Amino acid sequence: MSGHLAVVGLGPGDARCLTPEAHEALAAADALYGYGPYLDRVPARANQTRHASDNREERARAAAALRAAAAGARIAIVSGGDPGVFAMAAAVCEEIEAGPDEWRALDVAFVPGITAMLAVAARIGAPLGHDFCALSLSDNLKPWALVERRLEAAARAGFVIALYNPLSRARPWQFGAAIELLRRYLPPAVPVIFGRAVTRAGERISVTTLDRVDAVQTDVQLDMATLVIVGSRDTRVIARPGRQPLVYTPRAVAEVSA
Ligand code: SAH
Repeated sequence: MSGHLAVVGLGPGDARCLTPEAHEALAAADALYGYGPYLDRVPARANQTRHASDNREERARAAAALRAAAAGARIAIVSGGDPGVFAMAAAVCEEIEAGPDEWRALDVAFVPGITAMLAVAARIGAPLGHDFCALSLSDNLKPWALVERRLEAAARAGFVIALYNPLSRARPWQFGAAIELLRRYLPPAVPVIFGRAVTRAGERISVTTLDRVDAVQTDVQLDMATLVIVGSRDTRVIARPGRQPLVYTPRAVAEVSA
């Protein structure tokens, strides 16, 4: 029997956000591999084993899953959101590229999921309605100087910017430094959206402006479960009586701004 590896996106949290394709891939697996809190989201099934590992061990986890698949099992390796966005899919590809030839012959499927920036955007309107980019603020896998260069380029080019991994206990200052840098290139009134634990218990959404970000940070408990969307000069806020504002970036941009 030849093995199979599915790299499965679980979406932002709520089981209703899991695609039917992901559901099928999980149900068909003999064994699940993943970071413990993500595995906890998958209902237990008879005759299916679980292999939880630490969040920092992505390459080792990918290798273990590939070994098990090469031995003939049906394996699913899970990621929050989409596995291709700052997650397991690239780690699996890195291991396949570096690993034994038999891993290249394996049947591997990548099953997409709803990534955090789409889940956050959907809560507030259409902030990603025009050109946007996504950046991870984690400097675990790249130098901070590169983060700064990309932030500056994105702000100058007029992209709306989705910031993944804004903060962790090991990286306490990076978010503040990123906001300071963006203030040099963007007007104070640019809308900023904080989406915490979207579609999960403890969800918080808040909207502020670039000049007021510090005040909000403590308020929304900015942490590893938060995604931040920094608007562009074109991003607009529609105030609504008794309701959360709508934030959107119009589809048409008439001028080339600095
Ligand atoms: N593969 C994931 C991203 C992994 S990086 C995806 O596609 O969503 C982890 C970062 O994703 C977190 O630090 C946070 O910025 C963001 N994130 C993941 N789930 C989230 C959620 N439910 N609400 C808000 N942000 C989330």
